[in-house]
Amino acid sequence: MARKTYSEMLELPTFEERYEYLKLGGGFGTATYGSSRYLKQRFYMSNEWHDVRNEVIVRDCGCDLAVPEYEIFSPIYVHHIQPMTRDLVYNHDRLIFDLENLVCVTYNTHKAIHYGDAMMLMDAKPVERFPNDTCPWKGGTSGRNEFDTGHPRFR
Ligand SMILES: [Zn+2]
Repeated sequence: MARKTYSEMLELPTFEERYEYLKLGGGFGTATYGSSRYLKQRFYMSNEWHDVRNEVIVRDCGCDLAVPEYEIFSPIYVHHIQPMTRDLVYNHDRLIFDLENLVCVTYNTHKAIHYGDAMMLMDAKPVERFPNDTCPWKGGTSGRNEFDTGHPRFR
C-alpha cells in the first residue's frame, strides 16, 4: 500500500474525511515503539526536530489537520502520518523529518488518530472561543500523557 501523504490528505476538504484518511486504529506505541524512551526523548529534543516542527505549525497555520476553521488553541501536536518506529528514529530516517509525513493536530485528534476512535473527536469542531476549554490537562497533570507517542507540547 502506498504510504499516506500530507498532499493527499489536503485533497480531502473536511476534517472528518481527513481524520478517516489518517486514522491508524492500532494501539499506541506497541510493537512499533517498544520502550525506547531515551532514543525518543533525544529525538524530540533535537534542534532538527524543533525546526521541522515549527515549519509544520507555520505551514498548517496551527490548525487541526490543517483545516482552516479548526484553529488550535490548546497545545499543538505534530503527528507523524506514517508512525515513527524505533528503527526510523535510530537510523535518522528522513521520513521522520519529511513535511509530507507531518501534520498539526490537537491532543484529542492525535489520540483519535492513533486509537482510531472517532468518539474522541467530540471536542474537535470549529472553534468557539472560551479560555482554556480545550485544555483538559489544565487541572494538575504535567501535560504529558502516557498515551502520547512522545510528541511534546508546543513550546
Ligand atoms: Zn502521532
